Amino acid sequence: MAVEPDLKIELGKQGVFVTTISEIYNWGRKNSVWPMQFGLACCAIEMIATTMARYDLARFGAEVFRPSPRQADLMIISGTITKKMAPQVVRLYNQMAEPKYVIAMGACAISGGPFKQGYNVLKGIDRYIPVDVHIPGCPPRPEALIHAFMTLQARIDAQPLTGGDRPRHLDADAQGLFPVPEQGAHDLEPPVNRLVWPLPAPSTSGKPTGSCE
Ligand code: SF4
Repeated sequence: MAVEPDLKIELGKQGVFVTTISEIYNWGRKNSVWPMQFGLACCAIEMIATTMARYDLARFGAEVFRPSPRQADLMIISGTITKKMAPQVVRLYNQMAEPKYVIAMGACAISGGPFKQGYNVLKGIDRYIPVDVHIPGCPPRPEALIHAFMTLQARIDAQPLTGGDRPRHLDADAQGLFPVPEQGAHDLEPPVNRLVWPLPAPSTSGKPTGSCE
């Protein structure tokens, strides 16, 4: 049973601490998110700076960058994703244990950035894996990455442990592995993962919606 916030504060003044299982569970989850030691291009330099003493990401419980996807639950996509590298990124994501999260850091990771029209660059990693937080910028500053991390923590904190919005690791039917694209004759196959990148809605104005692929 949920306790009214006002009652909770009043009880706190009396020295009575009230909580719920989901609050404790999510408190533990949000303060122990371990990123994978993984960078793709120039944005990675800002990500590295975020972990150093000046910005100190460790303050948020994320001090341990793990060298193995098996020990990490946060993938920070920091840099340009070439089509040659995209299958490896999806494969690493699949190797991470649930619950796992993705932050797409910088213009390249969210849209291809300055290389968007390049034949060899992916126009956003969210075409293949689910992304929890997007950070615009070229490159985003460490403060932006910290803000994204705090946004992720807030989302974890607010997540119910039951019902349709529960975390994937508590849903036996949830999709945990995503198809790894392969190099086809001209492009990656499939070009997008329709589970995470649905077809754009048809235009109601009669004008073409434009291709985003
Ligand atoms: S967004 Fe800018 S800084 Fe980041 S990887 Fe792309 S080109 Fe480099």
